[in-house]
Amino acid sequence: MKIDKSDMLKIDESDMKTDKETTACAESPGYLQMSLAAAMTLGLRPGIFYRGARLCCINLLLTYEKGCVGNCAYCGLQRQRSGNFNEKSFIRVEWPTFDLDEILDKAESYSHRVDRVCISMVTHPRAVADTLAVAGRLRRLDKSVSVLIAPTVIDRQGMLDLEDAGVEIGSVAIDAATEAIFDRYRGKAVKGPHKWETYWQRLAEAVEIFGDKKAGCHLIVGLGETEKEMAGAIQKVNNIGANSHLFSFYPESGSALAGRPACPAGQFRRMQLTSYLIQNQFTSCDRLSFDGNGRLVDFGVDESELGIVIESGIPFMTSGCPGKDKLTACTRPYGDGPPGDIRSYPFMPNLEDIAKIKMEIGD
Ligand code: SF4
Repeated sequence: MKIDKSDMLKIDESDMKTDKETTACAESPGYLQMSLAAAMTLGLRPGIFYRGARLCCINLLLTYEKGCVGNCAYCGLQRQRSGNFNEKSFIRVEWPTFDLDEILDKAESYSHRVDRVCISMVTHPRAVADTLAVAGRLRRLDKSVSVLIAPTVIDRQGMLDLEDAGVEIGSVAIDAATEAIFDRYRGKAVKGPHKWETYWQRLAEAVEIFGDKKAGCHLIVGLGETEKEMAGAIQKVNNIGANSHLFSFYPESGSALAGRPACPAGQFRRMQLTSYLIQNQFTSCDRLSFDGNGRLVDFGVDESELGIVIESGIPFMTSGCPGKDKLTACTRPYGDGPPGDIRSYPFMPNLEDIAKIKMEIGD
């Protein structure tokens, strides 16, 4: 599966500027948006997390006046959604903008809270150069760095340059489990620039460049795929040598999918468990069983072994890039479900949570 350079998005930066003010506004690389949770972690926003959740990853997002060229139907940053780019919510939370110098100073002051910094690219002609510039500045912190790459505007050389700049993990948000869903919500059907093959090619290259299990793949459960299709995508990611990071679909207000119902808890729990079992070689896709509607009915694992895995609670925690001595630094507290109906647990589930999870698995 070879991607020709002509497949790369060609955007002339001058096309995106309207007047002299564009260069004067708070854009990357001097400025970045930061998740509200990360801003709370660095004391830049007040608040404490429900149930004492902790975030050890500072999630940053490149920011441009003209925003992201993509038009993904479920995303808060989609081009056709009204509002200024830096005021749009993303993964349902506010992403305030800060000066990079201030971010670095705060990350140094709160160094004990931070294991990792993640730069999320957006689809913009300057995104690769600006990500490299930000990665270079992050070296001062001596923290692990992840980049959520934008496959449409980066090529293999760009990823090699990221690795040279000290990036440890390169991830790709393929999001959709099937090509049809990808095209429907990210590609041709929404006049988006993204291509399914390009995304998978970049994921394979990320494994080659950053190393086995040093690449991640974001997948959103509940975009209309069957559980069999999602399990197939998880297996494919595993076969490539990458880790699956699952998100439960939760509608972003103002996006084209604002009216779509959230992913049912049972569906997400079964996929979390499947992902954990596949990634840890307890099962594989060909040992799973599904009913006529593609719903998972058997994990292909001995009952007592399965019980131990479920009781551990680990499969139901947020799946994300790791911390220094933690399974996940990027816990994204309550990013894919409200605190009252947690989907990805940003902490170890307690006994009450496990009882609820068991019921949800059987839903
Ligand atoms: S899992 Fe978190 S830290 Fe890793 S690439 Fe995705 S958003 Fe970044």
